[in-house]
Amino acid sequence: MSPIAIHKRVLLKVSGEALMGRRDYGLDTNTVVRIAADVADVVAMGVQVCLVIGGGNIFRGVSAATAGMDRAQADYIGMLATVMNALAMQIALEKLGVATRVQSAIPMASVCEPYIRRRAERHLEKGRVVIFAAGTGNPFFTTDTAAALRAAEMGCNALLKGTQVDGVYAADPRKNPEAERFEQLTYHDVLAHDLAVMDASAISLARENRLPIIVFNIHVPGAFAQVMRGDGRFTTIVEPP
Ligand code: UDP
Repeated sequence: MSPIAIHKRVLLKVSGEALMGRRDYGLDTNTVVRIAADVADVVAMGVQVCLVIGGGNIFRGVSAATAGMDRAQADYIGMLATVMNALAMQIALEKLGVATRVQSAIPMASVCEPYIRRRAERHLEKGRVVIFAAGTGNPFFTTDTAAALRAAEMGCNALLKGTQVDGVYAADPRKNPEAERFEQLTYHDVLAHDLAVMDASAISLARENRLPIIVFNIHVPGAFAQVMRGDGRFTTIVEPP
């Protein structure tokens, strides 16, 4: 591994919405390519990278359930949406010369590999980016929880959450420019103050596995590599010393 990278293996969670660019639905190809380029830079640093991509740009189970659809069934549709995003990211990464594998928690033999932990491990050792699709494979969960789960299973050194802003704030800084920004938080702080970082089950899972969470702005080109060098702006969520 390059001496400049501070982590050997990480998992990056990108929400589906981050792939929309300026659109209000679906995928913006230029945005997918731009994020893929950031991932490629980190791979070039010698970091082993896992990806989990959400599906909120296409379908969100909980919203459809509010509109009257059966929740579990709606969640399966949501999980299928994450597979579409994973395949789009795979194309973008491979165009940049990055070897990738998509592994789906819902087996889809003609489209991608099924999720097999030890196989994913082998791909990472060979320098391939593994994109974990279909969340946890279970309804009533989110891709944030899937990200914490896969990061723990793969023994990642950190779970990165690429968001719309450069860290965790007490309130949405786009609505309240005065909102306090935190450099470092504990898992307890996030849970007790209900800070909008990741859902509570993802935070709990990270806490139980002592998995640091790093929150940064996915829309700043090069930010992912900067965070991997320990530079730039981000919030770290860890256990108190
Ligand atoms: N989903 C699910 N189980 C999982 C992960 C996701 O049922 O383990 C469904 C759920 O309906 C969710 C949708 O997939 O709304 C898209 O995922 P998510 O909302 O986490 O995407 P993001 O907000 O990150 O784009």
